[in-house]
Amino acid sequence: MMQQPPLIDPFARAITYLRVSVTDRCDFRCVYCMAENMAFLPKKDLLTLEELDRLCSAFIGLGVRKLRITGGEPLVRRDILTFFRAMGRHLDSGALDELTVTTNGSQLEKHATALWEAGVRRVNVSLDTLDPDKFARVTRWGRLDQVRRGIEAAQAAGLRVKINTVALKGFNEDELFDLVDWCAAGDMDLTFIEVMPMGDLGNDYRVDQYWSVRDVRARLEERFTTVDLAERTGGPARYVRLAETGQKIGFITPLSHNFCESCNRVRVTCTGELYMCLGQEDRADLRAPLRAHPGDDGALVGAIRAAIAAKPRGHDFDYSRQRADGQVSRHMSHTGG
Ligand code: SAM
Ligand code: SF4
Repeated sequence: MMQQPPLIDPFARAITYLRVSVTDRCDFRCVYCMAENMAFLPKKDLLTLEELDRLCSAFIGLGVRKLRITGGEPLVRRDILTFFRAMGRHLDSGALDELTVTTNGSQLEKHATALWEAGVRRVNVSLDTLDPDKFARVTRWGRLDQVRRGIEAAQAAGLRVKINTVALKGFNEDELFDLVDWCAAGDMDLTFIEVMPMGDLGNDYRVDQYWSVRDVRARLEERFTTVDLAERTGGPARYVRLAETGQKIGFITPLSHNFCESCNRVRVTCTGELYMCLGQEDRADLRAPLRAHPGDDGALVGAIRAAIAAKPRGHDFDYSRQRADGQVSRHMSHTGG
């Protein structure tokens, strides 16, 4: 692939990390993410697997080194392994450093080996509780045993598993140490995510479930010694090591501004909208240039460059008045978390 000048935004940030949502559909209905009755997009609106390939390959040609596939639930998309295998060629060529996936784990038992063969080495599995009844409640449609089998299959296939847990006050507060112990026993890193004000989810999502990861950390420090790690991913995660167990624990505070200055990432929705910032509505349509020029990516690359030239400095979330100011109307399942 011809290497082009890299993507640098107006604040001198190099864009090296792309998250792509490959579907808006999901086999779960997590209360903080989706309404129970979701109207999903018609198939014609979604990028085809070929269009996803062209889009990701264009970004890789522009310097993206890390590609994370998300959704909705990426592993429920038909033939998605074809796409993973296609992206594997960029790993083989050395153009891409890492191909990863964020999943609810429900389909991992089926796909773990194929993901490994495609070149995936790490998966993030979202899991908020180890209690089967609570799991059924928070995901509405999910089954914990299926996800646990998926995690085991992933590890058996050689994939490194990281657990992502949304911190929810009054829901998994009492499981903090159980989750830490369970991850330690399974040699899995664990990251806590603050709940974000996303979409209109009716009564199931409540701002009073907000539990700051600063409080999560303080609770952890009642039992463990935390050592700050210098590691930065260019995203909203900060990491500590627990001195007693050696475990790495992450904290994602999407509502704070303190990571924007090092932001290295952009997101593309399953319809080909490029969001330059998770917390802003600014976006660029990449589906139009993809479809208008099926055999030539010149217009696509032009649209990507123009969009990056308009990447905002940071986002607008503000929980300080206990309401979801800066709330954006789209669901996480649309932009892909
Ligand atoms: N279905 C996959 C999964 O659950 O991992 C991938 C998509 S999901 C939208 C990506 C991540 O976003 C998950 O870890 C999920 O817990 C998180 N998420 C969804 N809605 C959220 C919200 N309102 N606030 C914080 N995290 C959220
Ligand atoms: Fe589905 Fe993931 Fe959203 Fe849960 S968080 S509803 S698993 S997309």
